[in-house]
Amino acid sequence: MRMSSVTAGAVALGIAVTAVVVTSVGGASADAVPTCRGDRITVAELAGGCTVSSGTVVLPDGRRFVVPRAGTTVSALPVASTGAGDPGDVSVTNAGRAGLAVRIDHAWSGSPAAIRLQQAAARPVASPHAATSAVAVKAASSCGNKTYTKLGFRWTAPVSWSYNTSGQKAAVAPVIRAGADAWTGAISACGKSVTSAAAERLVGNTTEPIAVSATGGCGASSGTSVIGWGPLKTGTLAVTCVWSRSGVAIEVDQRYSTTAAWSASSTCAGARYDLRGVATHEWGHAFGLGHTAQNSGLVMKPASTTCEVGQRTLGLGDLMGIDALY
Ligand SMILES: [Zn+2]
Repeated sequence: MRMSSVTAGAVALGIAVTAVVVTSVGGASADAVPTCRGDRITVAELAGGCTVSSGTVVLPDGRRFVVPRAGTTVSALPVASTGAGDPGDVSVTNAGRAGLAVRIDHAWSGSPAAIRLQQAAARPVASPHAATSAVAVKAASSCGNKTYTKLGFRWTAPVSWSYNTSGQKAAVAPVIRAGADAWTGAISACGKSVTSAAAERLVGNTTEPIAVSATGGCGASSGTSVIGWGPLKTGTLAVTCVWSRSGVAIEVDQRYSTTAAWSASSTCAGARYDLRGVATHEWGHAFGLGHTAQNSGLVMKPASTTCEVGQRTLGLGDLMGIDALY
C-alpha cells in the first residue's frame, strides 16, 4: 500500500487518493525505508530500521563511529589497563536497506533485520585495549590455555600500513612492527611451531590522520591503513579499528594512547606499559583475533598490566588462533 502522511491526510479529507499520490507525493514510495542521518545517530534510532548512507552513530558510552558504506563492517577493538574496566569490542555493520546492526561484545542492537543478517554471518568488531593497575606480570603468555576467538574477518593479502609520527615520544614504529611480526611467518611458542600466512608491510611515514577517534570509536575509512598516536580515555591503552567486507579485511587503523606512560625499550621498568606487548595484542586484533578471558593469561586477554613483557610472546591459544586463521 503506497501511502504517505500526505495521502493519509488526503484520505481523511475524502480527496481522491490516486490524484494526490500522483501529483503531490512524487517519488516517495511507501515501501521506502526511513533514513537516519546526522552526526548523532543513536542506537535507539537505528532500532527503527532506518537506512543510513552517511553520518555518525554515537553509542551510549560516547564512542562515535562514522557509518561505513553499505556492505561494510567497522570493528573497534580496545585494550584496557587492568582494573580500568573493558569498554568492550564494538562492531557497526551497514547492511544497506536492512539498516545498521551494532554489536557490543555479545549484545546486539540496532535494526532487527540487520541484526538477523549479522547473527547469521557472525561479523567482526572494534577493539580497545585496557590497562590494569595490578602488580606487573612478567611471566610469558600461558601455555596451558587453548582458547581463542575469531572476529569474523581475515586478510587475503599482506597488511600494508603507514605510520603517523605525530604525538610519538620516540621513533617507535619498529617496536609496533615487532608486535605485528609475533603473528607472521614461522612462529614457535609453548613447544609448538606453525607457519602463519599473516603478513604485514610498513610502507613508510604518513601525515594522513588515523581513523580512530579519541572516544575509542572509528572514523571514516580512507582505504589506507594508518597507525599512530593520540589521546584516549584514561584506562584505554590502544584501539584498533578494522574495516571488512564479507569477511575480508580491507583497512586497519590503530591509535596508541598519548595519555598512558609507555616503555619502548627491550627491558621495561616502572609504571609504564610495554609498547611491544600491547602492540602484539593490537595486531592480534588486526589479523582477526578477538579477546579471550582475562584469566587466560594469553596475549589476547582484554587488559594489560604495566611492564607486562610476557605479552610479546604468543601463548598456546594465541598460536592456535593465528594458525586457524592463516
Ligand atoms: Zn583488545
